[in-house]
Amino acid sequence: MTNQNPDCLFCKIIAGEIPSKKIYENDEVYAFADIQPIAPVHYLFVTKTHICCAKKINTENSQSVAKIFEAIAEVAEKENIDSYRVITNCGEDAGQSVMHLHFHMVAGKKMGWGEQSLG
Ligand code: 5GP
Ligand code: ZN
Repeated sequence: MTNQNPDCLFCKIIAGEIPSKKIYENDEVYAFADIQPIAPVHYLFVTKTHICCAKKINTENSQSVAKIFEAIAEVAEKENIDSYRVITNCGEDAGQSVMHLHFHMVAGKKMGWGEQSLG
């Protein structure tokens, strides 16, 4: 079911080859704590299948993306996180540094809006 890229950091994390602090897991989604948190809560939700970025979401794989948002809602409820932001960076200018589709879940502080709001 899953399609992995042996050179991809997040594929290695999903496979357990690189350790991570697991937050959530099901057949299609893995979530773990960001190594450099920008807020008291900063989790990364990734598709288990290797998709490089939001540009490559299509009818074949969009169900996995829907599963990510279901997982985020589940984690939020379980951890009593009432307000949060979900971000995906797509491409270099947007700040994507790992080319495996992921969604940042950020919470626990007041957030502004604009270029520097999360830096
Ligand atoms: P991007 O910049 O691509 O939107 O987000 C990549 C995120 O992955 C960054 O927030 C960065 O801190 C996180 N990250 C990079 N390498 C690792 C790692 O080895 N482990 C974990 N847990 N997070 C990582
Ligand atoms: Zn990958």
